Amino acid sequence: MQPVVHFKNVNKVYGTLAAVENLDLAIAPGQFVTLLGPSGCGKSTTLRMLGGFEDVTSGEIYLDGKPISHLPPNKRNVNIVFQDYALFPHLTVARNIAFGLELKGMEREAIHRRVTELLTLVALQDYAGRMPDQLSGGQRQRVALMRALAPDPNVLLLDEPLSALDAKLRQQMQIELKSIQQTTGKTFLFVTHDQEEALTMSDVIVVMNKGRIEQMGGPDELYARPRSRFVADFIGQSNFLEGRVVSVSDPVATIDWQGNSVHADVNGTSPAPGARATVALRPEALYCLPGKPEGRLALKGRIGRRVFKGAHTSLDVTLENGASLLVQLDPVALSHIEGDEVWVGWRERDAVLLAD
Ligand code: ADP
Ligand code: MG
Repeated sequence: MQPVVHFKNVNKVYGTLAAVENLDLAIAPGQFVTLLGPSGCGKSTTLRMLGGFEDVTSGEIYLDGKPISHLPPNKRNVNIVFQDYALFPHLTVARNIAFGLELKGMEREAIHRRVTELLTLVALQDYAGRMPDQLSGGQRQRVALMRALAPDPNVLLLDEPLSALDAKLRQQMQIELKSIQQTTGKTFLFVTHDQEEALTMSDVIVVMNKGRIEQMGGPDELYARPRSRFVADFIGQSNFLEGRVVSVSDPVATIDWQGNSVHADVNGTSPAPGARATVALRPEALYCLPGKPEGRLALKGRIGRRVFKGAHTSLDVTLENGASLLVQLDPVALSHIEGDEVWVGWRERDAVLLAD
């Protein structure tokens, strides 16, 4: 299938700063794609180049197979929603949504039908005559979204649209945004620095770091199989065991970590015996046993800090070798207390090798 958006070797340089470097990214139609990364990694720049608000320094962007880098924003069939989604304060909800359609010269009847259809989609059909200041924050957000969707753009660009909302409303809007995307079948390109938000909504997450793509994939894939330390650390939390490769029997590598033989999935990397290697382990993949288990690797340690977090409890376990591991346990099952001696173990398949 032809990608709806295709960045081919796109670069953006500000003075001496490479804000976006060698970006190659193809987006399939109808997907919810999220650019995720820390502040300053080039997410907004990428979005703004696609929207036409920023020139590319080199490379080309294609929309439905046609190069668009030379076109002004109003000649590109994309639309953008920002965090400060200012509605026109002097126009009703219906006129706000109709605005882009009137500009296009659409007929009154057709505009009315389209506005009604969009308001119904977000259950605001009874609010057509209200003014923006008579709406709640969540309702204003929905209207802004419908205003952006009204002209039927090929792609809807969303630059951290939820970051000004409080936590509860934000979670609610995440679910709603995803459901609107699924109902309309539109391609959404969403930007956030919040990994939980990205995991909640996306079909595909593109993790960016310093202007480059670190890794892209489905949320579960990125979480279970991070390729780099950056991704393993940015999405969720990870323990890192730094050691050396002893042997490889694809797909399992044996790593020497401070005198312990640790098995890990090679995870698409090509480990060479003798080379340095890092194994990533999710805190919730670890468990604690009161005694040494038979026939399985477990490392002896002592529980340091124990923090109750509601849905789970986290433990810092200091091992005999001086290293410490972060362990997350279900509080219901947890009987360990600070100072207890424990054996920390994990299932082999939960340990993955990183490429760097
Ligand atoms: P993000 O959206 O991921 O936080 P941006 O795309 O806004 O990051 O910025 C990427 C980098 O480019 C940052 O280092 C930022 O300071 C820089 N940058 C963005 N816009 C400009 C500009 N107009 N002039 C100079 N530098 C810019
Ligand atoms: Mg930004």
